[in-house]
Amino acid sequence: MDIKANLEKVKKTFINQDCLLVAVSKTKPLEDLKVAYSAGIRDFGENKVQELQAKQPEMQGDVNWHMIGHLQSNKVKYIAPFIHLIHGVDSFKLLKEINKQGKKVGRKINVLLQMHIAEEESKFGFDSKELNEMLANPDFLNLSHVTIQGLMGMATFTENKDQVRKEFKGLKTLFEELKGRDLPGFVQLNDVSMGMSGDYLIAQEEGSTMVRIGSAIFGERD
Ligand SMILES: *Cc1c(COP(=O)(O)O)cnc(C)c1O
Repeated sequence: MDIKANLEKVKKTFINQDCLLVAVSKTKPLEDLKVAYSAGIRDFGENKVQELQAKQPEMQGDVNWHMIGHLQSNKVKYIAPFIHLIHGVDSFKLLKEINKQGKKVGRKINVLLQMHIAEEESKFGFDSKELNEMLANPDFLNLSHVTIQGLMGMATFTENKDQVRKEFKGLKTLFEELKGRDLPGFVQLNDVSMGMSGDYLIAQEEGSTMVRIGSAIFGERD
């Protein structure tokens, strides 16, 4: 697996060079991360708290660690001291816990709200009703140690490109609609995290600012 060549190939296809490439290194050994680092990658995505905890001290201090998987509330404390961005915040309960742990370590933790955009049942995320309920909850105003930096979504796992495009378009539309609302200062909507190895070009066409790419860089996972 030529990670460096893969990175160059992926980058070359980008429609928007300003779109941030988060290299998804889950399940991959440190040596692979180091190759990507030496090729210029500073943003790494992992989906397990344990793996983040194991890899973080072994890599350079200027790495931005992204938690892209489903995060359980009781595990937030383990990543609160160093996490750069939590992509998969899908409940008010989790957001409040992140706020609490941020307060404890004296950090404002950056998060994205994960929206349920896929037709599939299995994907996590807020639906618009749940999102509106949270935004209208008086307790929402009390969050002092999080910055909501944008939205994240995963499209349906399908060959149907129109379907995928439609779902990404929906996420972008919701993002723009939220930006037009009067929301507290810790909501700074800058990013839409959408797109993986199989659909990042469609995602960029639909306005993604952050793509999470694993297998196209590091090869298939076991
Ligand atoms: C694994 C994963 C990715 C990367 O998937 P690839 O298809 O390997 O690019 C992106 N986002 C999330 C949330 C993931 O869990």
